[in-house]
Amino acid sequence: MTGAFPIAPRPGVLEIEPYKGGESTLEGRDDVIKLSSNEGALGPSPQAVAAIKAATANAGRYPDGHCTALRAAIGARFGLDPARIVCGAGSDEILGLLARAYAGEGDEVLYSAHGFAMYPICAQAVGAKPVKVPETDLTADVDALIARAGNRTRLLYIANPNNPTGTYLDKDALRCLRAGLPEGVVLVIDAAYAEFVTEADYEAGAALVDETANTIMTRTFSKIFGLGNLRLGWAYGPPHMIDVLNRLRMPFNVSGIAQAAGIAALADTGHMEIAIAHNSRERARLAAGLAAAGVVVPAGVGNFVLARLPEGADQAQAADAYLRGRGIIVRRMGGYGLPDSLRITVGLGPEMDAVIAAMSDFMAEQGVGNG
Ligand SMILES: *Cc1c(COP(=O)(O)O)cnc(C)c1O
Repeated sequence: MTGAFPIAPRPGVLEIEPYKGGESTLEGRDDVIKLSSNEGALGPSPQAVAAIKAATANAGRYPDGHCTALRAAIGARFGLDPARIVCGAGSDEILGLLARAYAGEGDEVLYSAHGFAMYPICAQAVGAKPVKVPETDLTADVDALIARAGNRTRLLYIANPNNPTGTYLDKDALRCLRAGLPEGVVLVIDAAYAEFVTEADYEAGAALVDETANTIMTRTFSKIFGLGNLRLGWAYGPPHMIDVLNRLRMPFNVSGIAQAAGIAALADTGHMEIAIAHNSRERARLAAGLAAAGVVVPAGVGNFVLARLPEGADQAQAADAYLRGRGIIVRRMGGYGLPDSLRITVGLGPEMDAVIAAMSDFMAEQGVGNG
């Protein structure tokens, strides 16, 4: 038979819906405003860019396969033991390795209904069954997650704060979740947006990792540090889990250029503080501007907002088309079970002006149309 797949892959592989990243181009435009992938608005620290350029001198040599200096820098910056850190080609790599390590054929991997799209992909890639657990008010439901964890459950991925809803579990809720899960379930706290969160009741997860034997936290350089292109992430976990990940990962999974960039980015604490302040200010302004236009914006944190169109999916599609017409790319959320919503990344001030103005005009025209 000459089908599209003349050699069959392992069962289940063809059921995987490939991950779709945010678009970055619009035909016929070179002035696109890209607000579709939650990349840090300010981009990387100039010191990181300088480190990248300097590191190209060694492009011909294999990197340090253990990321020794980078792990030391992460440890120093966040007060963590470098021996309990593993680095990866983006945190996506580590999320995938965790599924390979702890789940397989016939196992279940839990995630909350509007959780990050990589979780079911990671589960399916190892033949495990992704199990979507309903949320309450667009927030992970601790009781529902605990209730759904059975003896086939090996892994639970939770993004905290969650992309795309922006909601988060506070430190007590996270502890309740861990305490209520069977010991045999690995809890993966994906804290990709942790650096943006200023709320006092939020914890990225390192303390919970220290308190338990089966919890791991993942982090990334792709968001606040603005280094998405280099693919750099890390995890902090108990020694036995770090050991397991070190056995499974490729020997040189992080380039020396990425390692150098990460070290320099961590050292530039001023850039990060400016990025946090920028985000808090512009996120609030974006949320208020959209709300004033008549768009529903649930309370949330992170460097993005969820914009819910009051009249549903068709209106969301029309709004997306309208924004594209103005050269603005945001993210449709149908794939996340939120067809009435757009996810808009916090960008630079003028970019926020443009998207607020466009959405206000769109909603005003809708009003006229419905009148
Ligand atoms: C962006 C993102 C990541 C992945 O980032 P990497 O670039 O692979 O480090 C992981 N989890 C969530 C929730 C994200 O939004």
